[in-house]
Amino acid sequence: MENHMQREEVKEAVLTGYGESRRYSATLTERSLYAAKRLSGGAIVRLSISQRSILALWLGMGQPVSAVFAAAVILSVVLAIRLSGRIVEPLDEIDLDAPLSGEQYEELMPFLRRIDSQQQRLLRQKAQLEQRENELHTIIGSMKEGMILADREGRILSINHAARKLLDAPQDCIGLSVLSLCRALVLREMTEKALSGEAGGGIIGLQGERYQINASPVLSGDQIKGAAVFFFNVTEKEKEEQLRREFTANVSHELKTPLHAVCGYAELLKNDMVRAEDRTMFAARIYEEAQRMVRLVEDIINLSHLDEGAKGMAYESVDLYELAHRAIRSLEAEAAASHITLELTGEPTPLTGIPPLLYSIIYNLCDNGIRYNHKNGTVTVRIQKGEDAILLSVQDSGIGIAPEHRERIFERFYRVDKSHSRETGGTGLGLSIVKHAAMIHHAAIEVGSVPGHGTVITVRFPGCPVEASGQKR
Ligand code: ADP
Repeated sequence: MENHMQREEVKEAVLTGYGESRRYSATLTERSLYAAKRLSGGAIVRLSISQRSILALWLGMGQPVSAVFAAAVILSVVLAIRLSGRIVEPLDEIDLDAPLSGEQYEELMPFLRRIDSQQQRLLRQKAQLEQRENELHTIIGSMKEGMILADREGRILSINHAARKLLDAPQDCIGLSVLSLCRALVLREMTEKALSGEAGGGIIGLQGERYQINASPVLSGDQIKGAAVFFFNVTEKEKEEQLRREFTANVSHELKTPLHAVCGYAELLKNDMVRAEDRTMFAARIYEEAQRMVRLVEDIINLSHLDEGAKGMAYESVDLYELAHRAIRSLEAEAAASHITLELTGEPTPLTGIPPLLYSIIYNLCDNGIRYNHKNGTVTVRIQKGEDAILLSVQDSGIGIAPEHRERIFERFYRVDKSHSRETGGTGLGLSIVKHAAMIHHAAIEVGSVPGHGTVITVRFPGCPVEASGQKR
């Protein structure tokens, strides 16, 4: 080692007997402490110790500390994963469709109960909505009327079965233009009008029938969202209206003729233009014409009552044979005047029906049998019990009905020979009343006739068409 005499502590020990010094090495980050003592022989003992700085100490500890830290981090990560897994596991197992099933954290229960009640409410609302939707679909689907819902551009959003059938629409017509299904001008005009916010209607001919189209805008607030188009079959209604118009015209015409006659005769009498011996004859004519009008008005009233389904008339158990007997008795004078023989065959036959209507069926058929008969002819009423029906037939030996008229004689005011009918006091409504009264009893009518030799009209009542209470079975 080099000479240490120059060292500070040694110099101090030489001088004073004891010296100390400390030095710091920045590079080694060390502090060295020195102490020197002069011994009695003059020798110097020098001790030195080096102290490491805090930084050096820190640096020295770095490795083990890092190792411990890394171990701690790894351990805590592992533990954290395990622990969080264990905490989250019950949360993962929550069945949101049934949140209250299974074991849950007590702290979560209010939250889960809320979810459960919301869930129940949603389910109830969903069920209600589905039910309403089903009802709507059933109603719309089973509607006889056609219905199309279109969007703002006139494209089909919904179409029911009736409209599909009516317009012969393909199965996948949703999204197609309404007008591509039917080119009719009325439909085009009505749809365009509806899409511009105005409701309208018109008549259109489809598949040989007449349809009323009603198109109206579908609004949401003030905005037009589309159009709804409905198709109503008005064929029957139009026919009925036509028949009603014809009926009114016929009634006026039928009343006008006897009224003119009455007026004419009355005017002659009033002006004293009739000879004294003819006055009775004129009065008799007036009486006859007035009677004709009374019969006509009575028949019209009866018919309109039947048109309304004989409301207020009660079904009763009645003996058809007895009714026929009564009808024949009331026609005896008329038959005798025309030299016609009336016959009744059969036996007491109970039937549930409306007595005045059953009576008018027999009366009108017998009355026709007398009026359209030859002199010295016969009219035979037969009451028979068939296997599943009761048959009432009225046969005459009269003029008969040609085949081309057989269907039409049941129409109102239809007469094969107008003048003959009028001469004999016919109103042209007798068989219409028979037809309606039979329909109310669900009875069928058959006409058999040989022109010049006679006619047989049979009314077939089903076994027991109605209950005694009046309810149809
Ligand atoms: P009307 O009051 O004219 O007799 P109906 O409705 O009873 O009216 O009969 C319609 C038409 O049917 C009669 O005008 C007549 O031409 C014909 N007719 C009805 N019954 C007979 C019958 N038994 N024999 C021949 N023709 C008949």
